[in-house]
Amino acid sequence: MRKPLIAANWKMYKTPSESTAFIDTFLPLVTNQQKTEIVLCPPMICLAASIAATKGTQVHIGAQTMDWHDNGAYTGETSPVMLNAIGVTHVLIGHSERRQYFNETDETVNLKLKSALAHNLVPIVCVGEHQAERESGRTNDVLKQQIAVGLKDIDPAAAAPLVIAYEPVWAIGTGLTATPQIADEAHQFIRSQIAEVLSPAVAASTRILYGGSVKPDNAGSLCCLDDIDGALVGGASLDPTSFAQIVINSAL
Ligand code: PEP
Repeated sequence: MRKPLIAANWKMYKTPSESTAFIDTFLPLVTNQQKTEIVLCPPMICLAASIAATKGTQVHIGAQTMDWHDNGAYTGETSPVMLNAIGVTHVLIGHSERRQYFNETDETVNLKLKSALAHNLVPIVCVGEHQAERESGRTNDVLKQQIAVGLKDIDPAAAAPLVIAYEPVWAIGTGLTATPQIADEAHQFIRSQIAEVLSPAVAASTRILYGGSVKPDNAGSLCCLDDIDGALVGGASLDPTSFAQIVINSAL
């Protein structure tokens, strides 16, 4: 009922020509993976080239962030209207690096989420606890707050496209991966919170991805669990063979 989704977050890596070179190698490796929604999130400067290179394929292109205004005097920002205009279909919201280095908060996540839904972009909202929060037993409190504020005042009837990515901050880019059990527990808790904030029906249909040092050799054991609907992949998505293998292994 929930279509698996595997998304690549290229962060601030790759030029437009490097993006198209990746896509040219990647596409033939995933032609048999039609049951998985595949999303590449390149840097803004690579979006147009990536959209052209994936035209007519099952691979979607997403942005790594966006502003919540349609337009205005916001130097350096990119609006959902602009993303729509070039054919972007998905957008990451509230990635932990955006929260850490660019002052994003649960409140700005909420504004961006409302804007993305209003512009028919599939929002991938990132949540997750820091190491100290997990070690002090506050993981569920942190997730509860991120979901409560991030999803505040979203109309359940309009929330169908919503995707959540559970990304424990201690597992991002560190080589540390949450065990399938840790990830599954967090996903179940997040689903229960979506049920409280939105509705049980929305919770049942919302895809929840795991992110944090996903590699070809651990993708299968994470993605086979009932409450894990796919993955958001950073480092291992920069190489087309490695990312294709993650897509393939997650569907086994
Ligand atoms: C990410 O950037 O969202 C991520 C999960 O990174 P990595 O796979 O490198 O841990």
